[in-house]
Amino acid sequence: MTQTEDRLETVTTFDSLNPRTGDVVASHPVHTAEEVAQTVARAHEEAAWWGALSYDEREAHLLAWKGVITRRLPQLADLVHQETGKPHADATLEAALAIDHIHWAATHAEKVLKRRRVPSGLSMVNQAATVEYRPFGVVGVIGPWNYPVFTPLGSIAYALAAGNAVVFKPSEHTPGVGEWLAGTFLATIGRPVLQVVTGLGDTGAALCRSGVGKVAFTGSTATGKRVMATCAETLTPVVIEAGGKDSVIVDEDADIEAAADAALWGAASNAGQTCLGVERIYVHEKVYDEFLASFVDKARSVTAYDGPDTKIGPITMPSQLEIIRSHIQDALDRGGRAVLGGVDAVGERYVQPTILVDVPEDSLAVQEETFGPTVTVAKVRTMDEAIEKTNATRYALGSTVFSKSRGMEIASRVRSGMSAVNGVMTFAGVPSLPFGGVGDSGFGRIHGPDGLKEFTYSKAITRQRFKPMMVLTSFTRTPEADQKVMGTLMMLHGRKGTLPKRKR
Ligand code: NDP
Repeated sequence: MTQTEDRLETVTTFDSLNPRTGDVVASHPVHTAEEVAQTVARAHEEAAWWGALSYDEREAHLLAWKGVITRRLPQLADLVHQETGKPHADATLEAALAIDHIHWAATHAEKVLKRRRVPSGLSMVNQAATVEYRPFGVVGVIGPWNYPVFTPLGSIAYALAAGNAVVFKPSEHTPGVGEWLAGTFLATIGRPVLQVVTGLGDTGAALCRSGVGKVAFTGSTATGKRVMATCAETLTPVVIEAGGKDSVIVDEDADIEAAADAALWGAASNAGQTCLGVERIYVHEKVYDEFLASFVDKARSVTAYDGPDTKIGPITMPSQLEIIRSHIQDALDRGGRAVLGGVDAVGERYVQPTILVDVPEDSLAVQEETFGPTVTVAKVRTMDEAIEKTNATRYALGSTVFSKSRGMEIASRVRSGMSAVNGVMTFAGVPSLPFGGVGDSGFGRIHGPDGLKEFTYSKAITRQRFKPMMVLTSFTRTPEADQKVMGTLMMLHGRKGTLPKRKR
C-alpha cells in the first residue's frame, strides 16, 4: 500500500510474483468497487457501439485481434511463463488453442445466433415465428491463473463474438496477462470493448454486483459458490466453470503404451494444475500390472525443476503445496502406497510426480481436487466398476477412456461434461464442442454453439401473417369458437397412444 503525501489519497496495489523465484513481475492496482462501476459504465457505452455492428464487422475486428495475438505470441507466452512459472512451450500451446477459439467464435457467431424462422404449429399457422439470440450488453469474466489465456478467452471470445462488451477480472496471480489481452485488443480495434479490472477477490465481487448482464466465472468450486451468492443479490445470471477430479479408464484391450503416455501428460503437465488434470486412473485387472509398470517407468523420466528445458514448472500458488502434501499423507495413512514420489516429492516450490496405489476410494486423494502432479491408480474387475468409481465423486468435468472396442460406450456412461476416447483432453481443442461440467464442476457451457448462446438471451417474435379464422386472444371470442378449439385439441392430442412394448 502506498500513500501519496500531497493528496492524502490511498492507492492500493498488489504485486504479481514469479513463482519460480518469488521475484516481483509487476505491480497492479487493486480496483475498488467504484472503479469497477466506472469501468462497467464505460463498457455499456462500448456495448452500444459493438452490439450495433454487423456480424461481419465484429468478425473482422476479432480476426484482426487474433492476428495480433498470433504475431506477438512469444511475448504473451513469456508473460504467462513469468506469472505462472509454466514452461514456455506449454504457454505457447495454451495460447495457440485459445487463438483457434477466437477464430471459431468470430466466424460462427452469425450462423448460430442470427434470426431464424421456426415452425409456428397448426394452431398458430397464421403467425410467422422467429428466434434470435441477443447479447446481454456487458459480460463480466472472472478467471483463474492456471491457464490465464485459454480459460478466460473461452468466455471472452464467445461473449465478444455474440456482441457483448467484456470486463475481465483476471486472477491476482496473472493480472499482467489480462492487461496484455485488453491492451492488444484496444491497440487493434481502437475502442476498449474488452477492459480489465485488477485486484483480489473483492474486485471480483464488485464486478458481480456491478450490473453486468452475466458473469462467467472460472475457478474453484468454493469461490464459484461465493460468486453465485453475490450474483444472486442482483439476479445476475452466472456460468460456473469449476474444479474437477478427472479419471482415465483403461480397458483390457487398450493400447497400454498410449494410455500410459496420455495419462502421465494428463496428470503431470502444468504440474497437475489443470481443471481437467488426471487425478485418478482405473485399470482393468488383466492389464493393470502392465499399465502400472509402463506408467511408472515413463513418469520417472519427468522431473519438475527450474531450467530452460523443464517439462514441469513450479506450483504457482504456494498455499497449494500444503493441500498436495495433505492428500498424499492421507492416502498413505489410510493404507495407500507411493510407487513413485510421496510426501517428500513436495518441495518448497516444485512437486515431483507422485503415483499412489491401494488408496481407499473415500480418501482425499480420490475425492478432492489435489491440483498437483499426483495420481491414484486402482485395479478394477470390470469396466462397470471403473465407470461406477469414476462417477462416485461430486465433480464431473472431463474424463478419458482408453479402449479399442468399447470406448464410445464407456465414455457415454461416464457422468462428465466432456470425454476423450484414446486421447486426453482432446475435446478442449475442438472449438465446435461445448465445454463445461456437471455437479460441483459447475454448469453452463463455453465453446461451440452452446458457448455463443451462453452469452445471449433468446428473443422470440411472432408476427401475424394473415388474420386468423378465429380470434382467440380477444374478449369477443364466442362459445362456438371455444368448442372448435376443444374439437381441434381432441383431434390433435386426444387420441389414445400405444405404449411401447414392455421388455420381458
Ligand atoms: P479461485 O477460485 O481461487 O479464483 C478464481 C477467480 O475468482 C480469481 O480471479 C479470484 O481472484 C476470483 N475471486 C476470488 N474470490 C472471489 C469472490 N469472492 N468474488 C468474485 N471473485 C472472486 O481459483 P484459482 O484461481 O485458484 O483457479 C484454480 C481453480 O480453477 C481450480 O479449482 C480449477 O479446477 C479451476 N479451473 C476450472 C476450469 C474449468 O474450465 N472448469 C479451468 C481452469 C481452472 P483472486 O485470484 O484475486 O483471488
